[in-house]
Amino acid sequence: MKHVYDYVIVGGGLAGASAVQGIRELDAAGGILLISEETHLPYDRPPLSKKLWFGKQKVEDIFLHDRAFYDTHAVTLALGAKVARLQPNEKTLATSSGETYGYNKLLLATGCKPRPQDIPGGDLDGICYFRNLDDYLRTRGVAAEGKSAVVVGGGFIGSELAAALNINKLQVTMIFPSALLCDRVFPDYLGRAVQQRFKEKGVRILASDKPVSFNKSGGKFTTRTEKGETIASDIVIVGVGVIPEMELAKSGGLDVSNGIVVNEYLETSRPGIYAAGDNAFFPYQALGQPMRVEHWDHALNQGKWAGRNMAGARKSFTYQPYFFSDLFEFGYEATGEVDSRLETFADWQKENDTGVIYYLRDGKVRGVMMCNVWDKVETARELIRKGESITPKKLRGLIR
Ligand SMILES: Cc1cc2nc3c(=O)[nH]c(=O)nc-3n(C[C@H](O)[C@H](O)[C@H](O)COP(=O)(O)OP(=O)(O)OC[C@H]3O[C@@H](n4cnc5c(N)ncnc54)[C@H](O)[C@@H]3O)c2cc1C
Repeated sequence: MKHVYDYVIVGGGLAGASAVQGIRELDAAGGILLISEETHLPYDRPPLSKKLWFGKQKVEDIFLHDRAFYDTHAVTLALGAKVARLQPNEKTLATSSGETYGYNKLLLATGCKPRPQDIPGGDLDGICYFRNLDDYLRTRGVAAEGKSAVVVGGGFIGSELAAALNINKLQVTMIFPSALLCDRVFPDYLGRAVQQRFKEKGVRILASDKPVSFNKSGGKFTTRTEKGETIASDIVIVGVGVIPEMELAKSGGLDVSNGIVVNEYLETSRPGIYAAGDNAFFPYQALGQPMRVEHWDHALNQGKWAGRNMAGARKSFTYQPYFFSDLFEFGYEATGEVDSRLETFADWQKENDTGVIYYLRDGKVRGVMMCNVWDKVETARELIRKGESITPKKLRGLIR
């Protein structure tokens, strides 16, 4: 065996990097190994579909810490290394290149991977299942003014990238199976308004449709859809959701469902092994149900929390994460169960632009979306936490 560490973190995303901080809050000396398949130092993903495209941030600014941070905190980095196998009985893990490491406490912060398109040509070279910095760099390299792009998927990643490419003066066609953009989160009225904005900006929308094949010839892609459209483009981006990365957990016999199952301490079914971030299926205490959350603020705080628990804090995870997105001039912050299947009450200052949408079940607030209304997340969290019955009349004007 190569080396035994007090703490091994698998996954150099936001949750993994935040766990380093959590561990070091309580343990200044224990040896930490951070192993990640990507060759880059841990970085923020939200700018990949937003600020980097608008000249508001540069690639060198998206890294969470510089190399000196890891040196100062005595973290050994193994970048470009994929962990292939976990053996909880021996407390070891092995990389695909044959290295073996031992651990005392282990964190699986392996995030998510893009859902593939299982159709002819779905695995063609050059089709971008957008998730990481290399995907951004490759896409940016070909996304010149006047070029054309097909974006498959009408969720947040697809919508943000379609907007980013449109702002960079590409001709963009979006294809997605639902009738409206972001339909899992936006109520119909908001989805219709945002979709109209996309059309006005010049994005071609093929809603209620899906690709049935991709072809590539002479550097150009051809996408055919179920409804019979044929679209030629220089770029194809697919953003049709993600799947929690659980292979490693499964190889070690850990409990998994819609994510790696953890308890209130973020510990998996094997003592001493924790999971945090996009891949963790955890008890969401304020909502009283297990959930998996794929958001930045969640990965940041749950990663840190897991790190502290690995170092002995053993505190129940109570954090209530929020999330954010920007689609052209429409930006928002949201927290809780923001699910369009719930009943909603919208308190607009300007219809479908500025205001607050409350998501209710049995007369109680489960989620809140603050549209172009900023810095009110704490008020929204409290409303959800209280779980009291409340009428639309009382909600009106509550958050401005
Ligand atoms: C383009 C984009 C834009 C986003 N925008 C927003 C936004 O606006 N707002 C918001 O709230 N959230 C946003 N998110 C979501 C947010 O970035 C994620 O929730 C967050 O990155 C999750 O962090 P994580 O550490 O759990 O997982 P990840 O960031 O996925 O990191 C996991 C890491 O583990 C590595 N890994 C996986 N398996 C192994 C293995 N076996 N061995 C070694 N390494 C492994 C992966 O390569 C990866 O580097 C966005 C995500 C993307 C992709």
